Amino acid sequence: MTSKEVLKSMSPYKPGKQIEDVKKEYGLSRIVKLASNENPFGFSKKVKEEMSEWMSNLEIYPDGYSTELRMALAKKLDVEPDQLVFGAGSDEVIEIICNSYLYPGTNTIMATPTFPQYKHNAVIEGAEIVEVPLVNGYHDVKTMVAKINKQTKIIWLCSPNNPTGCHINQEEFDYVMSHCPSDILVVFDEAYYEYVDADDYPDTIKAIGQYENLIVLRTFSKAYGLAGLRVGYGVANEAITRALNVTRGPFNTTSLSQKAALIALQDETFLQETFKKNQENKQAFLSFLDNLGLSYDDSQTNFVFVHLPTTGDEAFEYLLSKGFIVRSGEALGRSKGIRITIGKKEDMEELQSHIREFITLKEGETH
Ligand SMILES: *Cc1c(COP(=O)(O)O)cnc(C)c1O
Repeated sequence: MTSKEVLKSMSPYKPGKQIEDVKKEYGLSRIVKLASNENPFGFSKKVKEEMSEWMSNLEIYPDGYSTELRMALAKKLDVEPDQLVFGAGSDEVIEIICNSYLYPGTNTIMATPTFPQYKHNAVIEGAEIVEVPLVNGYHDVKTMVAKINKQTKIIWLCSPNNPTGCHINQEEFDYVMSHCPSDILVVFDEAYYEYVDADDYPDTIKAIGQYENLIVLRTFSKAYGLAGLRVGYGVANEAITRALNVTRGPFNTTSLSQKAALIALQDETFLQETFKKNQENKQAFLSFLDNLGLSYDDSQTNFVFVHLPTTGDEAFEYLLSKGFIVRSGEALGRSKGIRITIGKKEDMEELQSHIREFITLKEGETH
């Protein structure tokens, strides 16, 4: 039996270090994971409170239309219910998009580095990948648009961008939308939308009314804190969601995940608190970096990409030995740096003392 040829040169996703493994390896009793931009404050308490109530009827298939969640979300976003498509995380929506629009002979344009799943899924579909380097962590939208040709099917915009945290502003968004032919899909991935506070951030959901070729992706995994349950969604015009709904599996989100997302959506207090605490802890961390003389990319989200005088792997190993799991830039296409999720105040303070020690140690080595 042979798989698609391309799969032979690719690897399955390698998950970051698991907490239990690190504990054993380093003999540590407490580990702080700041590697995957999860919500350090957990998730809405209401989800837990109401959980046992839904633990019935698990023998029944979930509602394949996600009716309750769909209606609530459509109302909140002020779109038609059929303008939504749900996935097991926005990861799955990305896969469904690639599956629906890409095939050998087509190409797709994206920034580099950006969220790796765009490229991963596009390669599986046999599409050519056109990568445009970021400039100071930001998308170079003019060059991206200039790369469009007759074979182009999808342009990916990640805002705020993972792994840099930089956003795409109104002007850049307008530039892409007004220059991109309407038969090319623009995917605007807003996985960290709830953390954004920039004044020049575009209202992309509203723009869907104006652009038939725009799809906006959001998720319950990040600020809502439900990464373990896997619910994400896309918002677009019905011609697009219809195609995606044909491709997606009929029961791709579970009854529990739909319900949890619905409750989480309604708990606005939790989201506001998450936003506020993230802002405070991020600001304190950035001041610390300024004092230490370390530069970093602008961040509109709950992580910061820190530039280092050493390799990311070196800093990663050092912090790991102290019980902090961060993400080395090496695997993210930016070797001299680390991506750090903004955690709880006390954890960030401890992390800062370890970063200071690490930098002092390295300075000592070079002098
Ligand atoms: C985390 C992330 C996703 C995927 O999140 P799901 O858990 O699959 O919803 C998508 N895009 C970006 C940019 C992310 O950082």
